[in-house]
Amino acid sequence: MSTRNVVIIGSGPAGLTAALYTARANMAPLVIEGIHAGGQLMLTTMVENYPGYVDGIMGPQLMADMRQQAERFGAELLQHDVSSIDFSKDPFVVRTSDAEYTARSVIVATGASARLLGIPGERSLMGHGVSTCATCDGYFFRNQDIAVVGGGDSAMEEAVFLTKFASKVTLVHRRQALRASKIMQDKARANAKIVWMLDSEVEGIDDGGTGEVTSMVVRHNQTGARTEVPLKGVFVAIGHTPNTSLFKGVLEMDPNGYLITHDGARTNVPGVFACGDVQDHIYRQAITAAGSGCMAALDAERYLEHIPQYLAAV
Ligand code: NAP
Repeated sequence: MSTRNVVIIGSGPAGLTAALYTARANMAPLVIEGIHAGGQLMLTTMVENYPGYVDGIMGPQLMADMRQQAERFGAELLQHDVSSIDFSKDPFVVRTSDAEYTARSVIVATGASARLLGIPGERSLMGHGVSTCATCDGYFFRNQDIAVVGGGDSAMEEAVFLTKFASKVTLVHRRQALRASKIMQDKARANAKIVWMLDSEVEGIDDGGTGEVTSMVVRHNQTGARTEVPLKGVFVAIGHTPNTSLFKGVLEMDPNGYLITHDGARTNVPGVFACGDVQDHIYRQAITAAGSGCMAALDAERYLEHIPQYLAAV
């Protein structure tokens, strides 16, 4: 099979924006979408902060639209997981379980996964009261009682942010001591709308048969006492894991495993670019991911302009 100009790994807003731009630049991209195509937006319901959608749009619909738009310009999409990549070869070799592709450039857009508690009700009520993104979903909980789970900076930040909407935010953390930095702890502790359930773990989230969150059960770790807390939302803020296991030892990462990019979307390997949440643990928004996907596409295009084989082929 002939060598591809660009293989894009991942199909969230970053990967699909990179696909759109590279397709429109006549680079004939191959997008290896992953088995769970579409990324984290597939787990959300209404998205109200993606510019251009006056009345909001459902997360899965937004991803379907992005996919269709990329395909319209000739992007080829493949619903498979990448099993290994060899960046030491020229061209690069990208393998799935049943095929092998060679590529002059690769755009990594594998995203990050929100860590979950693994308790009953968490997955089934995701988007129906359970959320992993306060910025995305806080607005839906005006004047409601909600909870945030976690003791790190993310949990403090989300709890404080959510007090703008919620009437009460119960912060549940499994230990007495918080992991968060002192300044973030102080900010949260000074907020009268936040109530604390420390040394405690959420055991289950319930919908009372309504299809939307109605309560959670919290167990105190010292006494074993269980409390049922009525509420409308549970925000799980126990960290994210970047999907970078394929790139260990090859692409430069920070101590938490996020890819390091420089001069735009470039990684430490020439011809390999990264965009979206796999290289961003700060903003993590669909629109910032899409923006960085555009950057990766333009950087890949400029990179290919200096590759003789590419020039010969166009
Ligand atoms: P984190 O620092 O890893 O904290 C995760 C929290 O979740 C910890 O308190 C942990 O409890 C708890 N947790 C993990 N697994 C759990 C489980 N299964 N059940 C119950 N609780 C669980 O993650 P993060 O807060 O997302 O922060 C990630 C990085 O981003 C950090 O370096 C942080 O400083 C940074 N960050 C910075 C800012 C800021 O400066 N504005 C904002 C957000 C994040 P334990 O403490 O018991 O382990």
